[in-house]
Amino acid sequence: MVATDRLILLQDAANRAASYLHNLPSRSAAADTEAVRQLRGALDGDMPAAGMADNDVLEFLDHYGSPATVASAGSRYFGFVTGGSLPASLAANWLAGSWDQNGFSSVSSPALAAFEDTALRWLKQALGLPETAGGALVTGATLANFTCLAAARHQVLKQAGWDVERQGLFGAPEITVVVGAEVHATVYKVLAMLGLGRDRVVKLPTDEQGRIRAENLPDIKSPAIVCLQAGNVNSGGFDPATTLIPWAHKAGAWVHVDAAFGLWAAISDELAGLVEGFADADSWATDAHKWLNVPYDNGVAIVRDADALHQAMAINAAYLPPGATRDAIEYTPDSSRRARGVDIWAALQSLGRAGLSEMIERNCRQARIMADGLRQAGATILNDVVLNQVVVTFGNDETTGQVIKHVQEDGTCWCGGTVWQGRAAMRISVSSWATTDDDINQSLDAISAAFQAIRGDRP
Ligand SMILES: *Cc1c(COP(=O)(O)O)cnc(C)c1O
Repeated sequence: MVATDRLILLQDAANRAASYLHNLPSRSAAADTEAVRQLRGALDGDMPAAGMADNDVLEFLDHYGSPATVASAGSRYFGFVTGGSLPASLAANWLAGSWDQNGFSSVSSPALAAFEDTALRWLKQALGLPETAGGALVTGATLANFTCLAAARHQVLKQAGWDVERQGLFGAPEITVVVGAEVHATVYKVLAMLGLGRDRVVKLPTDEQGRIRAENLPDIKSPAIVCLQAGNVNSGGFDPATTLIPWAHKAGAWVHVDAAFGLWAAISDELAGLVEGFADADSWATDAHKWLNVPYDNGVAIVRDADALHQAMAINAAYLPPGATRDAIEYTPDSSRRARGVDIWAALQSLGRAGLSEMIERNCRQARIMADGLRQAGATILNDVVLNQVVVTFGNDETTGQVIKHVQEDGTCWCGGTVWQGRAAMRISVSSWATTDDDINQSLDAISAAFQAIRGDRP
């Protein structure tokens, strides 16, 4: 391929991407099922004998792929907990993609190592976590939970005289693992991957917001790991860290926090009360691809004791002190890896503390507007809207299911379903930099209209 062909191809990709994003507001927020069917059909053949011209590959991708996407990059997608991509972070992701650096070490890419060091330092500052903590940029909060809990496993067993990286878990002292009844499913998956088991956890009861009840706490003995949550995936509720962390530490336990999105409240003076006490934990898992609004895949593990993280993740030099420059391979489950630090650095650099705080506060305010509007429309809000999450029912489970279906078909916005405290509910997560108050009002109108249509009201 000659250089000009490559230039044209990359510019074509950029143009197609820009018009895709430009057109998102005027299309349905849901995937077009017919477009998905056509995409599946077009992809149905076997591995081709001969290749296709590069520009045709791109044309295929845009023609079949773009219409089959969900509009999660848009401003009215409220499913799961889904951030968009900040323009600076998306553009940085493209440029770094063209660099094609391998971020496993400071030798394979000194530039990525530099961006990653700064991204981690700024993340700790943004989230109010200790400056000296170790960190790892991983694929998401699931792997961040994994990374943190591997460090926890290392440290609590080391204190019990056991070297888990060398000896494995066979014959090791038993670790007591404590979680809340509303712990995120990924923590169970991670416990399974770490050999700590899904079913042998001690489960603490939770209240109507999904928060661990800080009363009648059991006596636990070390080695122990206590998993708390900052931001329940449905309600946005926070476990009471100011009581639970001192209780756990008194028993010699390691305290881990799954804070996939909740910890971002720390950037805002208005919201910081929600995360009070969480900085006293020993490890924190969060996502950057949710509320920081960077492209996938971007999660962050921060561990107070950087050495515990290093010992748990080191590839072969576990018993050597870390070098002067940080090699990511010694701190993460990955070896070869992409430029996560660039995506995150660009987001933090483009927002600054002021921009990040504004975005977080705006999304929380928008969640409250949504909740108030839905209440006025006759729906019932099931959670205290303390953060960016709204859990809402429209009467009985059947009606709620019909409203969700209607809203998804209408396509003005996209909201998913959940079961909250035994009831079917719609969950609305306002997590995008791109969401304006006008988007909230349009979505509110669409949801209210769906509710009226299902109830048989005439406006
Ligand atoms: C989203 C989420 C996770 C999993 O994060 P991924 O980025 O999907 O791996 C874990 N815990 C909570 C509370 C979450 O909201």
